Amino acid sequence: MPRQRTLRNKISCVGVGLHSGKKVLLELKPSDVDGGIIFLRTDLPAAPKIHATAANVTATVRATTLEENGAKVFTIEHLMSALNACRIDNCEIEISAEEPPVLGGNSIDFFRMIQSAGVVEQSAERKVIALDKIYRVDDDDGKRFVMALPYDGFRVSFVSVNPHPLIGIQYADFEITEDIYEREIAPARTIAYEKEIDALRSMGLGLGGTIENVIVYNDDGWLNELNYPDELVRHKILDVIGDMRLAGIFNCHIVAAASGHALNTRLAKNIYAHALSIRN
Ligand SMILES: [Zn+2]
Repeated sequence: MPRQRTLRNKISCVGVGLHSGKKVLLELKPSDVDGGIIFLRTDLPAAPKIHATAANVTATVRATTLEENGAKVFTIEHLMSALNACRIDNCEIEISAEEPPVLGGNSIDFFRMIQSAGVVEQSAERKVIALDKIYRVDDDDGKRFVMALPYDGFRVSFVSVNPHPLIGIQYADFEITEDIYEREIAPARTIAYEKEIDALRSMGLGLGGTIENVIVYNDDGWLNELNYPDELVRHKILDVIGDMRLAGIFNCHIVAAASGHALNTRLAKNIYAHALSIRN
């Protein structure tokens, strides 16, 4: 059995939130065995704790939101993705606003922060969740699904479907190791349709989005350079890796078609409930 992992040192960064546009200080800190991943809202009285577990997911529109002890954090999926790819069991995340910094709109900066802080093995064994069957959730109109198959390793296969003729259907399949994650997934950003940006902003979304951290496209193509020709599906994989960490750490093969945070977190809730049931 592998042992639990945490950071060797603390490390911090500053930036603005993707949706809120609010300035934020984020600090990742080592924590004790069995601590899990916990956010602490340092801007609120008594710095309430929010455990990064599927049971605390309360909203999934455009980003994943967690709530506990009267406090919330949202758009946590890119940070969670880097923590999952590095198989970090225990980490305290001090955050001075409700949203982590967007940075490059991907997870490469979070990945590099974890690598620079260093990773240490701890005295206790990791509680790896063993999947007893295939877990699957579908949306109501049968156009999207995500499932987790028992698998000796961590692998993600994803089909993304976009109506834009220049994007269309993209498929990617990766065995997730730290090297592959860093090279093939962590630099991938999400996309925004130029026509929709004003509407998003009027809803108070995407206020920290820029041409640097989001791929903006219109009817003719991209307004910025792509990091990969199939960057969208790679970002979808980045997101699903983040959302799945809310269930814990487990070996699985994720197979998904067009799923987003709503389906991903429903799957994570089912696996988290299974993990609790076998632990008790
Ligand atoms: Zn994302």
